[in-house]
Amino acid sequence: MKHVIALDVGGTGMKAALVAQDGSVLFEARRPTGREHGPDAVVATILDFAADLAQEGRTRFGAAPLAAGVAVPGTIDEKNGIAVFSANLGWRDLPMRKLLGERLGGVPVALGHDVRSGGLAEGRVGAGQGVGRFLFIALGTGIAGAIGIDGTIEAGAHGYGGEIGHVVVRPGGPQCGCGARGCLETLASASAVSRAWADASGDPEADAAACAAAVDAGDPRALAVWQDAVDALADGIVLAQSLLDPSTVIVGGGLAEAGDTLFTPLRAAVTERLTFQMPPKVVPAMLKDTAASLGAGLLAWDLLSMEVTA
Ligand SMILES: [Zn+2]
Repeated sequence: MKHVIALDVGGTGMKAALVAQDGSVLFEARRPTGREHGPDAVVATILDFAADLAQEGRTRFGAAPLAAGVAVPGTIDEKNGIAVFSANLGWRDLPMRKLLGERLGGVPVALGHDVRSGGLAEGRVGAGQGVGRFLFIALGTGIAGAIGIDGTIEAGAHGYGGEIGHVVVRPGGPQCGCGARGCLETLASASAVSRAWADASGDPEADAAACAAAVDAGDPRALAVWQDAVDALADGIVLAQSLLDPSTVIVGGGLAEAGDTLFTPLRAAVTERLTFQMPPKVVPAMLKDTAASLGAGLLAWDLLSMEVTA
């Protein structure tokens, strides 16, 4: 069975798979990233993991993987295969494609941005299947997005395309890690909702999932916190709608696990803000936390098909 290696490197854990050409997952594995040991150790862990996956492929399918795809957080130079910067993992100008290619005996390697890779997978085999234009938004520790166009993702001229988390929706609002104030991710990320609910409930351990549960139970303090986040998110989505006019907005990440508790008020808040814009379908992501790994596999297959046609 022809297959490629797919690897998603997160701040705490790595998710890997062997992926067939049709996007089906043949084998899955997880390992800790071990970032507490420093950036060099993380790179060594990634290379070891990839080499073990290659061996797994040979054992299971009698042939080495044809290519590898790796999705990483931060700023990526996809064209040159360089992880330019990751605050999370402590990288600067890391030649990931070269290192991984050497370790794997010269197979082609694709390097992708984690959220854009996740968006790619949602677009090809998840909630965006058959949708020409979509926006993927991941509500996690921060907020990131991916602009889907006919089965590909628009990364922008400098690799920052889709950064909806840093659209300012409340000028002068909370300080964001990027240096600005009132960015969407300071108001509607899972972390932002956790913080707001911890404040409002007086329980420092309270998180976004607890807030969603309190909303379902009809707690008015939770409803106020939740609606603030929903309103901010709707403002961000309407801005994106005006610029990009997607037919579908796919919402994933931790906060989306609240299901209808999020999607019902969010759809209402988006609809009430639209004037001339056509309403997008606002739907939950399908692939959950394996999206980025699967997307890395699809990038690897894309690389192979480009080599064939070149
Ligand atoms: Zn920001």
